[in-house]
Amino acid sequence: MCGIVAYLGDKEAQPLLLEGLRRLEYRGYDSSGIAVLNGKGLEITKRVGRIDQLERALNSHPLHGSLGISHTRWATHGKATDINAHPHTDASGKLAIVHNGIIENYGVLKKKLQDKGLQFRTETDTEVLAYLIGFHFDALDVETGNRLEMAVMEALREVTGTYGLVAVHQDQPDVMVGARRGSPLVLGIGQHEHFLASDTAAIAAHTQTVAHLRDFDVVTVDRQGYRLKSLTHNKAGLEISQINYDAGEADLGDFPHYMLKEIFEQTLSIQNAVRGRLNLEECTAQLGGLNLTPQELREIDRIVITGCGTALHAGLVGEYIIESLAHVPVEIDWASEFRLRNSPLDRRTLVLAISQSGETEDTLGALREAKRKGHRVLGICNNVASTLARETDGGVYMYAGPEISVAATKSFTSQVVIFVLLGLLLGRMRFLSASQGREMIAAIEALPDQITSILKQSDHIRRIAEKYRDIDSMLFFGRQMQYGIALEGALKMKEITYIHAEGHPTAELKHGIIALVDEKTPSVFLCPKDGAYDKNVNNMQQVKARKGSVIAVATEGDEDILQHADDVFYIPEAPEYTAPILSVIPLQLFAYHMAVILGRDVDKPRNLAKSVTVP
Ligand code: GLU
Repeated sequence: MCGIVAYLGDKEAQPLLLEGLRRLEYRGYDSSGIAVLNGKGLEITKRVGRIDQLERALNSHPLHGSLGISHTRWATHGKATDINAHPHTDASGKLAIVHNGIIENYGVLKKKLQDKGLQFRTETDTEVLAYLIGFHFDALDVETGNRLEMAVMEALREVTGTYGLVAVHQDQPDVMVGARRGSPLVLGIGQHEHFLASDTAAIAAHTQTVAHLRDFDVVTVDRQGYRLKSLTHNKAGLEISQINYDAGEADLGDFPHYMLKEIFEQTLSIQNAVRGRLNLEECTAQLGGLNLTPQELREIDRIVITGCGTALHAGLVGEYIIESLAHVPVEIDWASEFRLRNSPLDRRTLVLAISQSGETEDTLGALREAKRKGHRVLGICNNVASTLARETDGGVYMYAGPEISVAATKSFTSQVVIFVLLGLLLGRMRFLSASQGREMIAAIEALPDQITSILKQSDHIRRIAEKYRDIDSMLFFGRQMQYGIALEGALKMKEITYIHAEGHPTAELKHGIIALVDEKTPSVFLCPKDGAYDKNVNNMQQVKARKGSVIAVATEGDEDILQHADDVFYIPEAPEYTAPILSVIPLQLFAYHMAVILGRDVDKPRNLAKSVTVP
């Protein structure tokens, strides 16, 4: 959450910072701000609202200087207002910081500083950190070039919580200090210039040489270069790598929104997730990144899947897939619960942590808790340079390309197809025959064309969305492998349209939820031709009998469904383990069109942000 970009070099900082912030806006968009150091001292402009607001303010009063820091915020402490926006200054007004994360002990620190006579201007935790660094800066009696670095380190020793931060001080006009604990920060190394940013997307247009800071790293950048220190006296240097980033991948192209672009990219993202991972000869999947021997894979007798939001829903579908194909018991747990719960794990339990960004704080917390207990943790993520990728013992990359829309779409289907691959791999080591493996491979290979055929229904789905535009509430039902799709369909709907939506296992309808059914509350039933079809039709009838409208997601060729449903989204015929990858797509499109019809800000829905890096 929140994006940081900082620049020190020989160019004007403002345009580079604004461009970088735009690339990070998906991380948070309550407010934004920039601070530049120049001969006149520290100059700051910050505005509540989108980056456009900030840009307008800067167009009328540009900030000049070749050292600057900037931030786009997702508020955790203090409302989204001009004054609470970052950068925050210290009591003297000479030091400024941008910060991503939460200073958990800010209350205690604030009191301590207030007792020394300091008065605060905002309600944020970040301002307390700025004051604390400023307090140490003023207390240090050194005229050397590393005074800011020392002040940052002193202050951070008193802090509990998470931070990615960059600090500057007008008494050291050629220095910026970055630090990280829990929130990502990457150093970009260019020709006579350096960047610090939350994500490589912000700087990739200017340099491909980067180094990801590790927790407790403190990096000081000046006009000569950079140096690294560690709050834990870790002697290891920064690992410098080259990023392979096609800035065009993150551009909208002809699409009106990133969400629609990413929904349409699923034909390709599914192929990328599968490429090189099918072994046609042995009728199985090969997932070398798991770093497990066949013997170790064979010995797994329980899997715990953990994640948040959409990733957890993918895990839920994965639970059914792995249990049915490989007969390995699977348990799903919200990462936020798992990290605090004392979950008994034994030697043969495999923990799988899922996060698109690989930076989701709760998922990282869960992974660390499992590792602390001595367990092997594997990851499924999209960002190869992420904390999750670094801290897991192995895993599977999604290779879905950048996902910019806050509402996740292509990452979900990539995660599910990875579970199908995992089910195939584990299943072939246990109960699946070669011919069953071959059938599965055929089903996986059919997916891209099947997805293309669903995408062609986009206009039809928009017309149906138009019909339901005045509803306030919606229910989604699915059984077995479609249950996770019901949850995901409801999540998409509420995230971007703000229409109340709930997802449930279909049979739960009778156990309370049916009380919500009326003329104004439509129900979406996931009802492909599978073993639960007749039961699902019964449940649709129960809704119709109570004047509720029914929208069905059904298998192509199923004409009977028209007798039970008011509207139908068809998906191609598929086995039950790949059907969820297909049935979610009409629901993504349904939510998307509904949001556009209602005039919502599709890619940046209210109160949300991508990459949830706060607990
Ligand atoms: N806790 C800080 C704030 O509320 C930073 C939040 C963020 O990561 O955007 O301003």
